Amino acid sequence: MIGLGLIGGSVMRAAAAAGREVFGYNRSVESVQAATADGFDATENLDDALRRASDERALIVLAVPVPALPLMLDHIRRTAPDCSLTDVTSVKGAVLQEVRSFGLLDRFVGGHPMAGTAHSGWEAGDAQLFVGAPWVVSVDDHVDPDVWVQVSLLALDCGAVVVPARSDEHDTAAATISHLPHLLAEALAATAGEVPLAFALAAGSFRDGTRVAATAPDLVRAMCEANADQLLPVLDQALERLHHARELLAGHQPLTDFVDQGHAARVRYDSFTRPDIVTTVVGAPGWREELAAAGRAGGVIRSALPVLGTRE
Ligand code: NAD
Repeated sequence: MIGLGLIGGSVMRAAAAAGREVFGYNRSVESVQAATADGFDATENLDDALRRASDERALIVLAVPVPALPLMLDHIRRTAPDCSLTDVTSVKGAVLQEVRSFGLLDRFVGGHPMAGTAHSGWEAGDAQLFVGAPWVVSVDDHVDPDVWVQVSLLALDCGAVVVPARSDEHDTAAATISHLPHLLAEALAATAGEVPLAFALAAGSFRDGTRVAATAPDLVRAMCEANADQLLPVLDQALERLHHARELLAGHQPLTDFVDQGHAARVRYDSFTRPDIVTTVVGAPGWREELAAAGRAGGVIRSALPVLGTRE
């Protein structure tokens, strides 16, 4: 594990609970000491961790924010270039580009566990964080079947369900269901912050609508800024809807369409089903395209898929 914050620390705990050997690096001594005190194998020496990863042919998991990736990838390129590599970052296209620029694409399969809290750091970690959560494992054109299986098994061991997706499609969806909510939550919280009495009356609607505004600002900036190209079109769509609502209100017109469309979409989400993906043979001709299509249709992987050339 490279980075032992909320997500890295949670993966470390969950992987260890599943019986895996897991060791990690964190840049701050305090977090390394806290992890060690909790019984985990951690160091603040990145090259020591990477040398060990190389010796043990470990799967390296990058769990640092996007701006920290170039430094980590540079060390990996020099010390552990043959290790399988994944990440947990909330944007996939930007990470793919970075990994490619460091010449590490061959052994890389991007990942994104769709779970989190507004808290940060080792103390915030939780072995149960990923239970039942979707964990995107990318099926981009370059993806190697062996590495894909390693990354998927890690996600399954952490209790997640695997959603296969291409990085570009992930980024458009993540812009809509994660990065846009962050922008809306910041705007809502700041707006209420200017209104006298608002906090005194605030209850469920305000709490739920602004929950993610409590996330560490650097993390919010890192994910929204790194996914700006995908975020802009969905932000425009949301603004268009809000402008429409504004016009209706200003003209004392009913909000019928605006509210009905939102309500209908939310009801559809509540009844959204996730069919199991069970038949795709990893490594067989067209397996990546088949998984991307199944993921797009809402499919999830709940247990290991058959792999070409094995008996299972
Ligand atoms: P966190 O702040 O809890 O942990 C970040 C970790 O990165 C810490 O270990 C920190 O020491 C390390 N780090 C930061 N900058 C560094 C640098 N320059 N050099 C070396 N290490 C550095 O954050 P987190 O929530 O665990 O986020 C980590 C990754 O997980 C991010 O890429 C984020 O996009 C992704 N993610 C977050 C959530 C969430 O809800 N917070 C959910 C899914 C994925």
